[in-house]
Amino acid sequence: MHSYSLRKLRSSLLSWFARSGRNMPWRHTRDPYRVLTAVIMLQQTQVSTVIPYFHKFMNCFPSLLKLAASPRQTVLKQWAGLGYYRRAINLWKSARIIRSKHRGRFPRNIAEIRKLPGCGPYTTATVASMAFNLPETAVDGNIIRVISRLYALKGDPSKKTLRNKIALLASQLLDRKYPGDFNQAMMELGGRICTPRSPACPVCPIRIFCSAQKKGLQEQLPQLPGRPFVEKLDRAVSVLLQNNKIYIEPKKPAKGFGLMEGMWGFPGFAVKHDARSSLSDLHAVTGLDPVKVLCQFTHSITRYRIRVRAFLFMAKKIKGHKTGKWVRIGELEKYPMPSADQKIAASLKIPSLNS
Ligand code: SF4
Repeated sequence: MHSYSLRKLRSSLLSWFARSGRNMPWRHTRDPYRVLTAVIMLQQTQVSTVIPYFHKFMNCFPSLLKLAASPRQTVLKQWAGLGYYRRAINLWKSARIIRSKHRGRFPRNIAEIRKLPGCGPYTTATVASMAFNLPETAVDGNIIRVISRLYALKGDPSKKTLRNKIALLASQLLDRKYPGDFNQAMMELGGRICTPRSPACPVCPIRIFCSAQKKGLQEQLPQLPGRPFVEKLDRAVSVLLQNNKIYIEPKKPAKGFGLMEGMWGFPGFAVKHDARSSLSDLHAVTGLDPVKVLCQFTHSITRYRIRVRAFLFMAKKIKGHKTGKWVRIGELEKYPMPSADQKIAASLKIPSLNS
């Protein structure tokens, strides 16, 4: 693209972003700790989901040093429900590294930011550009889509050659005076206007520069490989009740649930699909018969759709589970739990059980 067109494109996009960019709490700050927290929370999570968690987290840990000084369990408790708990642990570890290695001052140097746990190229570039105004290009799925269409790039962008080309074009496009705003404007454009299906080209601020729109290819680009298949799983969860106390234990990694380090929950098992076989599987695994089904729901995470059925048992122990503890129902909220276990805990809050 000609340098005059590049300048026009940048200014059109930035003016649109200034006029129409969504109001997000991390857009009013240059505090690198707040920016990093927002960028990490936004990984694989929608803006509308992140906003209340961001406020809650910032109320509890208003500064990086406050986060670094907090126990891991307290941090996980504030993150509980947002999922992908490794993110919370990485953020907490980063705060501790910055406190010990950088005397509490967030590093401005790209190589040092990149060394922080969980800071890949995208997170590093986004933080560096938003917090320090460094001319770093952030390349996420939204930006890949916008660039592929803007330059009408055919081929699979998950392949290295095209990926490198997109990164180069994105870097040439970057507004070096306002890199943070520019990166955010591109993400916003990809998230709201240049959407995967039915892009809103008539209202796009950069449509006059867009090759795909001129060629009528906007719906066909980028040429992504087929969507990953969805895997359905079934899990039975055992809730043990005895003397008005409930058994909980440290969560173990399970297929579809990702890392659970530091989280608590109820014993769970993979079972077969139909209800009858899940009951017999449950008996075989636990040696117990349930009193009733407490609740059932479907939990979606990455490519997994997990049908969860929670059973109540009046029992003192369960086969193969010894690492947990017994707590009152009212105390359950002190423990960080993934959202599936939180839903089950909520179903326990009935007056006759809660004393
Ligand atoms: S004109 Fe259409 S395809 Fe091109 S960048 Fe804008 S929304 Fe995307």
